Amino acid sequence: MEKVLRAGATGIGEQKFPVDCDSPAIHMVAEVAEAFGVPVLLHFQHETYNLGIERFHTVLEKHPRVPFIGHAQTWWGNIDRNHDQTVLYPKTKVTAGGITDRLLADYPNMYGDLSAGSGLNSLLRDEEHARAFLERHQDKLMYGSDCDDRAGEGEKCSGAQCLAAVRRLAPSKEVVAKILHGNAARVLKISTA
Ligand SMILES: [Zn+2]
Repeated sequence: MEKVLRAGATGIGEQKFPVDCDSPAIHMVAEVAEAFGVPVLLHFQHETYNLGIERFHTVLEKHPRVPFIGHAQTWWGNIDRNHDQTVLYPKTKVTAGGITDRLLADYPNMYGDLSAGSGLNSLLRDEEHARAFLERHQDKLMYGSDCDDRAGEGEKCSGAQCLAAVRRLAPSKEVVAKILHGNAARVLKISTA
């Protein structure tokens, strides 16, 4: 990681390993991120990767200068306060105030990446909730595709469907611009000039 960060990498990509999300390994990655001033992307998946999302706030508190970007099934399932941790793609209505909702609200260094079927599902399972969620976390959410973008449309391209969902459900064009580009550019320190 240090080798590629010295060569100019702007972030630490997806951490997707079978460890506790508050394990010594994750704290070590966070220390590297802090030294280089870059964010870390984490894949949360129940009983598979980055276990124990209910304890992730302790990592955010220990590394307040490191931006963490959450994604995947367990990250997005936990927008719902009533989330069943064993369900990876819940289709039920959302009760706001889940673990993810609280981490985004309470910690300035927590962000969310809307990529793949899990991010898309979080928007489509309850569009009324999604409208409010995009509004309240408009400075914390980032578009990602994580699919075969060569398709560019249709069922297999979750990225195209996510673009359409953000454009339909966000409260204004300004918020769309932040979620599709501005927030990621800021956190990854990509010049937009
Ligand atoms: Zn992932």
